[in-house]
Amino acid sequence: MQTIEQTNTNGVQEKWSKRPLIISGPCSAETEEQVIQTATRLAETGKVDVLRAGIWKPRTRPGSFEGIGAKGLPWLQQAKKLTGLPTAVEVATGKQVENALHFDVDILWIGARTTVNPFSVQDVADALKGVNVPVLIKNPINPDLELWTGAVERVAKAGIEQIGLIHRGFSSYGNTEYRNAPMWHLAIEMKRRNPDMLLINDPSHICGRRDILLDVSQQAIDLDFDGLMIETHIDPDKAWSDASQQITPEQLASLLGEIIWRKEDINSEEYHSVLEKMRQQINQLDDELMQLLGQRMKVAETIGTYKKENNITILQTKRWNEILERAAKKGERFGLSKEFIIKYFDAVHMESITHQNKVFNS
Ligand code: PEP
Ligand code: MN
Repeated sequence: MQTIEQTNTNGVQEKWSKRPLIISGPCSAETEEQVIQTATRLAETGKVDVLRAGIWKPRTRPGSFEGIGAKGLPWLQQAKKLTGLPTAVEVATGKQVENALHFDVDILWIGARTTVNPFSVQDVADALKGVNVPVLIKNPINPDLELWTGAVERVAKAGIEQIGLIHRGFSSYGNTEYRNAPMWHLAIEMKRRNPDMLLINDPSHICGRRDILLDVSQQAIDLDFDGLMIETHIDPDKAWSDASQQITPEQLASLLGEIIWRKEDINSEEYHSVLEKMRQQINQLDDELMQLLGQRMKVAETIGTYKKENNITILQTKRWNEILERAAKKGERFGLSKEFIIKYFDAVHMESITHQNKVFNS
């Protein structure tokens, strides 16, 4: 049983219901000066509601900076005292929950690498029993809504009432435009399942780079997300983690200024209509299909190069029949008619041949 008392004295209750809710701060707390300066400059923008900082960093590879640890918690406490900004920290174990609460952290979040692991989530949830603190739950790194839902359920069962979701994209093999593919339809589905739950977008971890942060942020706002979590650093290029995606507090202010915030009064009813939401979902799926088709053509081109080098014809009837048969069988499982599959694959095949012809003639 937990005995930690959490007193939300920093207006976190009121912030929780503010829209859009803007959370910002460094990927990692590095030094006291960096935390205080970031917080001060963020507060000066007047556009930020919550200060975030990673204290314990679950890094993909050992040897990277794994966070400053509990030593950084008093820095956040100090930053809060100076700026009035409530603080948010990532927790991955029960011990970290206790430590963070001991230093008056106002909001906890569960990271993507933790959401994937029910043992870890349960450990965090157990430490949250009897505590009154808002918890944000990031999507798991793999596109699995059940894992995300499971984490929400574990935290809810611990008695936490203020739960929010953070969409930070999903890991995929190979190079895409994003560090973590947004797969927007999954976030939309999660919102459909939890309509009253706060849904925040984290463009920093989706993009992994600065130049598309605005696009992704705008997309999230257009999709009716409740807020944004964006990483900021006083000297982004020198950040000890996630250097390429962080921006300065001032750049954050101008990014937020460039976003077109959806007006509440214009066609609000229509915008919120179920039909509109489903149309957005269709648009997202179409975008993803297009991206996949592009990738398919790239593979076809590589095959074209191989065929050219080995003097093989472009069209190989046997292989083509194989593709069609396989697709017809698979398509049936997904409720697609054979007639449609044949039409669709004919078009895709023609496009592949066009791409391979280009390779042959180059
Ligand atoms: C972070 O917010 O710095 C972080 C580690 O994010 P994620 O869990 O989304 O990878
Ligand atoms: Mn980060």
